[in-house]
Amino acid sequence: MSKTILILPGDGIGPEIVTEAVKVLAALRDDFGLAIEFDEALVGGAAIDATGGPLPDATLDLARQADAILLGAVGGPKWEPLDISIRPEKGLLGLRSELNLFANLRPAILYPQLAGASSLKADLVAGLDIMIVRELTGGIYFGQPRGIRELDSGERQGFNTLVYSESEIDRIARVAFDIARKRGSRVCSVDKANVLETTELWREVVTAIGADFPDVELTHMYVDNAAMQLVKWPKQFDVMVTTNMFGDILSDCAAMLTGSIGMLPSASLDDRGKGMYEPIHGSAPDIAGTGTANPLATILSVAMMLRYSLDEAAMAERIESAVDRVLDNGLRTADIMSDGMTEVSCDAMGDAVVSALS
Ligand code: NAD
Repeated sequence: MSKTILILPGDGIGPEIVTEAVKVLAALRDDFGLAIEFDEALVGGAAIDATGGPLPDATLDLARQADAILLGAVGGPKWEPLDISIRPEKGLLGLRSELNLFANLRPAILYPQLAGASSLKADLVAGLDIMIVRELTGGIYFGQPRGIRELDSGERQGFNTLVYSESEIDRIARVAFDIARKRGSRVCSVDKANVLETTELWREVVTAIGADFPDVELTHMYVDNAAMQLVKWPKQFDVMVTTNMFGDILSDCAAMLTGSIGMLPSASLDDRGKGMYEPIHGSAPDIAGTGTANPLATILSVAMMLRYSLDEAAMAERIESAVDRVLDNGLRTADIMSDGMTEVSCDAMGDAVVSALS
């Protein structure tokens, strides 16, 4: 039976990069028998302009019905003056929480062809392949109470709540252990258990779940040390699992080790493997409309979708090999351009990947 993919282009370069990713999916459908169909809907600034809100009910309904979702990016200067409660980013947060997409998978992989782009020395990052598993629907970003209040003294005080229940920790830990089994069989759980009770519980629950995965090596690391180790010796890590806020920060740090924000995909999954797939970068308003955006992060997000939500690992590998081949052939968008390579547009990069699928 054919699977439905909801396409949410979003704002800025979103529509440009998503067009290229859809080209790749359509080629897999037409030439390789992938049974899929597409729906498309508005999210973010584009939805605000058309309907007054960043996540229209119609979009949420289609997202609930779809087997998987492909998102470009949301946001831009046009919508920054709006109140925080109706900004484009709320559309994204709304989708994550409404669909219960609690597991955020962010691989940081260094393509050997792009080794020179990393800010670290080549020998420190050559062969880098880390999977960061970030809890996405709990922790301090969602905890209540939160706000800014006025104290009796008249001074204002900001407050947020870091909260995790055992079941939330249990399910994200299991995702990390499952993924580790398919990779290097090592999980490093990152917390701040020496200071925060919430992460003391985190460490206790992760350790208990680890007993169900005796074939996976479990280590624990405090988040400050993890940040340091990521830039000191990143290749020591296989899978890292951590809280929403720590994962937000560490995954950006790990992404930059690969030197190329335009290359990195991500997946956000629920407990049945349904997911939303998107590049880790934003809507890049500075280059929107110039045709220079790198579509590879979005195309590689499609590969993650095929692997994690559509059970089509061979199709995923076909895309990943095609991207490899295109890089081997010296094609580069502006963000990853270097001496001796051939600079191509967003559109031409998408076409090159489609050609390399065969
Ligand atoms: P950004 O990731 O959009 O851009 C940072 C820099 O990287 C820019 O110089 C941009 O040109 C470049 N860049 C990003 N993606 C690229 C690509 N595919 N190819 C080539 N270059 C690329 O981050 P920002 O500038 O901080 O944010 C811009 C807007 O995006 C803001 O409104 C922000 O809120 C939003 N944002 C959205 C998401 C999302 O939708 N998931 C994530 C982050 C930021």
